[in-house]
Amino acid sequence: MYNFQSNLNYAKQLDASDELASYRDKFHIPKDKNGNELIYLCGNSLGLQPKSTKDYIDQELEDWANLGVEGHLEAKNPWLPYHEFLTESMAKLVGAKPIEVVTMNTLTANLHFMMVSFYQPTKRRYKILIEADAFPSDKYAVESQLRHHGFDDKEGLVLWEARDGEELANYEDLEGILKSQGDEIALVMIGGVNYYTGQYFDLKRITELGHKHGCVVGFDCAHGAGNVELHLHDSGADFAIWCTYKYLNSGPGSLSGCFVHERHAYNKDLNRFTGWWSHNKQTRFNMRHEFDVLPGAEGWQLSNPPILSMAAIKASLDMFNEVGIKKLNEKSRKLTAYFEFLLKQLGEDTIKIITPSNPDERGCQLSIQVKNADKSLHDKLTRAGIISDWREPDVIRCAPVPMYNSYQDIYQMVEKLKELL
Ligand SMILES: *Cc1c(COP(=O)(O)O)cnc(C)c1O
Repeated sequence: MYNFQSNLNYAKQLDASDELASYRDKFHIPKDKNGNELIYLCGNSLGLQPKSTKDYIDQELEDWANLGVEGHLEAKNPWLPYHEFLTESMAKLVGAKPIEVVTMNTLTANLHFMMVSFYQPTKRRYKILIEADAFPSDKYAVESQLRHHGFDDKEGLVLWEARDGEELANYEDLEGILKSQGDEIALVMIGGVNYYTGQYFDLKRITELGHKHGCVVGFDCAHGAGNVELHLHDSGADFAIWCTYKYLNSGPGSLSGCFVHERHAYNKDLNRFTGWWSHNKQTRFNMRHEFDVLPGAEGWQLSNPPILSMAAIKASLDMFNEVGIKKLNEKSRKLTAYFEFLLKQLGEDTIKIITPSNPDERGCQLSIQVKNADKSLHDKLTRAGIISDWREPDVIRCAPVPMYNSYQDIYQMVEKLKELL
């Protein structure tokens, strides 16, 4: 499909004809001690800072300085409804309706709050199914939910494992698990894009399978949001959560996004933890004692949110809105395909890409297994100005992010790797 060439001039040519190339300049690219730009391939861990972020945060600092408490209503972007300024862009980004999305709390906290509502175990149906190499925080969270409800966290946890000698999870195995234990599984909770392998799961297929067996289905889309075109509404998933500091470039520890499917929007009987921000906006400040829950995802909020962090999210979402996830995805596919092409030139016996080769089953990340390598390889790459991520025992994860990475970044990374091997 592509006619790639493995030389620097060709990489430069690709950059020259890249219609999103100008976006790189809208980000702060970290530099080495000599002032040379690093090759940053860690946007899957912490996205880079948009240059506009400072202005968005300064606006709120200024309004706070000048207005104090009046800023809740009088700030240029009033703080009281501030989270609503993010909803439409966020909903568009993840393929959801505005009523299904809210930005609040942090990721693992939201996973717990979602499980308060969507993990309702009974004596007979109490197990939780996750993928075997789920992100540790997710695993710890579901195990603690099992214990919280009085179940054994080993016996209650069902793992969707890759077959012996394989890295990627297989849908037939999932079907098999659900066929044999589906009536004991209360919740299927999968990482939408697996953080380790980069495998982008078919959310709709998993949801339909789970629902067929009477399970609730949720996804952690920390590695999906801003990376792949998610279609959360159409997937039919009951809930999803994601963070905004990876592909969404909103700063270390920034807030989380949360999706609750429309069919739960008006269900006041769903068990949930609540606070004054889940209460009807019209009567919230009457400080009455009868609770009146907000419809939709907003009804899961607890607190008035941190505006400074939300300002950073707004800065980032405004850029995503401007470019559109479709355009980003087009570049992403080509950038990652070029990366894959160059890596393959290194020879199959040295490295193995464990990420799916089908572009529909991955985002921008490639997880590269290097035979007989240890962490010293990663350290050497770092010293050579390539910022990537090492996972024991032998995997380098690299995420060429379409918003700010270039084809030359990729070319230089692979050249360095070749040198070090
Ligand atoms: C990054 C990530 C986390 C981190 O959770 P925090 O609560 O934001 O610290 C959790 N789960 C997944 C799948 C992740 O990718």
